[in-house]
Amino acid sequence: MAFELDNIRKNVISCTRCELSKTRTNAVPGVGSVETGIVFIGEAPGRNEDIQGAPFVGTAGKILSEALEYAGFVREDVYITNVVKCRPPNNRRPNKQELESCAIYLQKELENIQPKIICVLGNTAFGSLLGGNEITKNRGKIIRRNAQLYFVTLHPAAIIYNPDLRQILKEDLKTLHGILDKIKKGMEIEINE
Ligand code: SF4
Repeated sequence: MAFELDNIRKNVISCTRCELSKTRTNAVPGVGSVETGIVFIGEAPGRNEDIQGAPFVGTAGKILSEALEYAGFVREDVYITNVVKCRPPNNRRPNKQELESCAIYLQKELENIQPKIICVLGNTAFGSLLGGNEITKNRGKIIRRNAQLYFVTLHPAAIIYNPDLRQILKEDLKTLHGILDKIKKGMEIEINE
């Protein structure tokens, strides 16, 4: 599994499948451990991520780290990635063509990791993975699609613009930690969709 993830990583780093390869500094493959059985999926790298070649290392990354710690997760023990692996110019939303070009990498990451649950961070990941929208109305939901469980919550970057959401993200991740615990113990969980 580690070998395969390493291969995906190498392919992402040298990828030229879409126009974002022309403007990026670094492609940003997923990082972390697969042992906890959970994958966090955001939108796309931002400026700091593009410079460092790692996901969630800027302000939004700090907010995510805080929320993970509050919830009882160890950041290094979870896997963190994005639906699109290169930074869109000026942090605009990735377009349809970019999302489609990059989907193969996330698909391969998930095939290899086989997470017990996927945490969907924000509207872009929600739309891309589950066809959803209106994250503020749908956050906190557990969704099952094709035998895969998803938990939907806010993107940490949303907290930068609206600090009132910080506690909501933290509590959502705490709920998620409890859900993962139940899944691991074989206990029943309530699926919303
Ligand atoms: S965004 Fe994805 S598909 Fe486009 S160049 Fe980067 S890694 Fe390749």
